[in-house]
Amino acid sequence: MRIGEGFDLHALVPNRPLVIGGVNIPHEKGLLGHSDADVLIHALIDALLGACGLGDIGQHFPDTDPKWKGVDSKLLLHKVYKLISGAGYQVVNIDSTIIAERPKLLPFIPEMRDVLSDLVGVKVDQVNIKAKTSERLGAIGREECVVATVTVLLSEIN
Ligand code: MG
Repeated sequence: MRIGEGFDLHALVPNRPLVIGGVNIPHEKGLLGHSDADVLIHALIDALLGACGLGDIGQHFPDTDPKWKGVDSKLLLHKVYKLISGAGYQVVNIDSTIIAERPKLLPFIPEMRDVLSDLVGVKVDQVNIKAKTSERLGAIGREECVVATVTVLLSEIN
């Protein structure tokens, strides 16, 4: 068994799509980044890499590389899933938290769980996603950014 944790933060700005957990969410602002800036998938990738001792997302997909500009983070997660499978690991379960003041994310969580469980080869009930606000405090509370944290447990493939 191996455990991994991941954290990510992206600025919330006008004129960008809001993509979290592989789901397009209607909102007047979106997350800024080199890729599609999917904060939840990035934290999940870091958790998976961390559990396997394989570094972090920036080492595998540098934001200086034009190849990853505007990339769909689902593709990055697919590549990392193949990497950890190749290393002999499978996902036992994923638990995660998204912290965003707005929009309300609860209605989108079932679709996020579908997307993520498909991408990492597990059932929907092995992927948990929680959404919180920051109680209007700090940068998250001012709707300047969104944060995600992920914990993942892996087991050896027999
Ligand atoms: Mg990121």
